[in-house]
Amino acid sequence: MKDVWNERLRCPLCLKTGTANLCQAEDDDLPTIRSVPDGFRVIKTNDGPDFRCADCDVSVEP
Ligand SMILES: [Zn+2]
Repeated sequence: MKDVWNERLRCPLCLKTGTANLCQAEDDDLPTIRSVPDGFRVIKTNDGPDFRCADCDVSVEP
């Protein structure tokens, strides 16, 4: 079984929004990012992937 879902991203500074697509298999500890919207990037942390605005370099709001 694999969960697939979309996550809404919103930059708190420039208010840009986008939708990322993620998936996670039952035996995966952390989700896998399938697509990142334009203008955003992903960094890997110990708690899992973290989305950041590519322009402002701040974490997006959850
Ligand atoms: Zn931004």
